[in-house]
Amino acid sequence: MDILHSQLAAVQQKLSWVQTEPINWKLYVQAFSWTVTLFESYLLLRQYPLYSKKAPPAALEKDFEPGAFEKSQAYGKDKAKFALFSGLYKQILDSTLLHFGFYAWSWQAAGQLIAKLGYNSKYEITQSIAFVFILYFLSTIPTLPLSVYGTFVLEEKHGFNKTTPKLFVTDMIKSWLLAFTFGAPFLAAFLKIFQWAGDRFVPWLMAFMISFQLIMVILYPTVIQPLFNKLSPLAEGDLKQRIEGLAVKLRFPLKHLYEIDGSKRSSHSNAYFFGLPWAKHIVIFDTLIQQSKPEEVEAVLAHELGHWFFMHPTKMLFISQLHIFSILALFPAFLHAPPLLSSFDFPPHVARAPPTIVAFLLFQMILTPIEAVVSIIMNAVSRKFEFEADRFAVDLEDRVRATGGEKAAAGMNDMGERLGRALVSLHVKNLSTVWVDWLYSAYHHSHPTLTERLKGLEQFQAEKMKKRN
Ligand SMILES: [Zn+2]
Repeated sequence: MDILHSQLAAVQQKLSWVQTEPINWKLYVQAFSWTVTLFESYLLLRQYPLYSKKAPPAALEKDFEPGAFEKSQAYGKDKAKFALFSGLYKQILDSTLLHFGFYAWSWQAAGQLIAKLGYNSKYEITQSIAFVFILYFLSTIPTLPLSVYGTFVLEEKHGFNKTTPKLFVTDMIKSWLLAFTFGAPFLAAFLKIFQWAGDRFVPWLMAFMISFQLIMVILYPTVIQPLFNKLSPLAEGDLKQRIEGLAVKLRFPLKHLYEIDGSKRSSHSNAYFFGLPWAKHIVIFDTLIQQSKPEEVEAVLAHELGHWFFMHPTKMLFISQLHIFSILALFPAFLHAPPLLSSFDFPPHVARAPPTIVAFLLFQMILTPIEAVVSIIMNAVSRKFEFEADRFAVDLEDRVRATGGEKAAAGMNDMGERLGRALVSLHVKNLSTVWVDWLYSAYHHSHPTLTERLKGLEQFQAEKMKKRN
């Protein structure tokens, strides 16, 4: 622990100028965030002309029914226009709020709010919770028209929206209540650790965050997801037998198999698994079941089990812990930095002893450009995992034969092909874009494009056959 603290102290020493130099941080944040937004707009403009292509890539030509390709192009075009508009709208909004000292104003408003309830400014944690909720609330309202438009105009026009206005409102209220129920105690504990551990907070905060994430792994599917969707046991039949068979052959600790009513809100479809290492649950969207044949859904599950087999979620969790750790290691330098707060219009009496939550928020805004790079790296890792899981599905036959014998492996030879068919039909039914600009895709997509995946599947199959001969 002492080695850790001396290393962290060295980092802090290197950054000590943050606490004294009067730097115009606000100007930096404005410049950074505009750069990111303009870059994202540039990517959209690179992608946009591809929506005017008249035919799908040759490899997919036969998979589109008449009119389906045109539909997917029109959907992509509308989504791109909307993304361009909302990106710029949000940026202008954030930038204006920043310019007029919105954060300093919110901190003061939070102080007045808790004063009405009988607390003074000594109650930093109470004021911090009020502050975060004022920020959250006031920044949600101006973007509300965007989500209304997205759901009831855009998705509706292309036949995806299943949300009713009533469901939209109850969903929103539920998420606000949830944010408060989980957010307030989380924030209180988070800030308490700073008060208690002082500048030696890093390991304690890490331990706290990891425990919180583990608790959420248990609570999300059991408590939170059922508030929004209905999970029911998958009906008896071909599909259930196939998946249970797959689980047995791979020694996947399957506890429950659910169907989820994803179609209540949207007809986009998917499948996923969750749970603790010894008791896993698989959830399949009803839309996937309706849109694909059981043998194709089985292949999608084979891909998902590939993620489990290679421990991709655990690896992702590890990478994100590393990410959080590096952020926290830099933070102490910004924790007691009056010039930081002054540059964001906080009055001298607040800037002199910066409230932790304010310092943390401003610090995160400063990190925006680094975060953009991190997200590109995360996407690259995630794409690699997708290919690994696809390869797993292709090689499943050989893997099962090695452990369970010829009989267990029977009928698995075409798993890759079935996965390919399932992917194509998912893409076609969801009107996903098939023409993708490489830079746009690298920045935004955590999954390889359909064409890349089909090419990959073919290659994995060829390698498998070569190995056999
Ligand atoms: Zn995947």
